[in-house]
Amino acid sequence: MAVEPKGPLKKIEKRRSKIAGWGVFALEPITKNSRIVHYAGEKISWEESDRRERKYLKKGHIWCFILNRRWVRDAAVGGNIARFINHHCKPNCYTQIVGDVIWIRAARNIAPGEELTYNYETNGGAGIPCRCTPGCTYEL
Ligand SMILES: [Zn+2]
Repeated sequence: MAVEPKGPLKKIEKRRSKIAGWGVFALEPITKNSRIVHYAGEKISWEESDRRERKYLKKGHIWCFILNRRWVRDAAVGGNIARFINHHCKPNCYTQIVGDVIWIRAARNIAPGEELTYNYETNGGAGIPCRCTPGCTYEL
């Protein structure tokens, strides 16, 4: 069994977001490319993820993160603070999958107080309008 990484590697905090619902904010300067936190969640099959996502999407949530061609992580079960990181079309973070760990890493230097975001790359599957910037026409 792979060992689950510990909690966040950088000081971050969950707060109300101007983008949507809750967001996650940096509390310290974060250097480009550093690992911030991993996306925790139960490892489930695509079939199981399909079933659960239909339920989550009705409430406007996206909790399932594709790990690879077989597996998905469901942050609604065993998730950590990373599940509150919002989507942004021009994000300051990116994700990197190493084995079965999903890392959220800084795409550039991030200042304290900035909201962390990454691109969910859902290609409109969820049908949720993006609110990253006024006038954004992307759909999650
Ligand atoms: Zn957008």
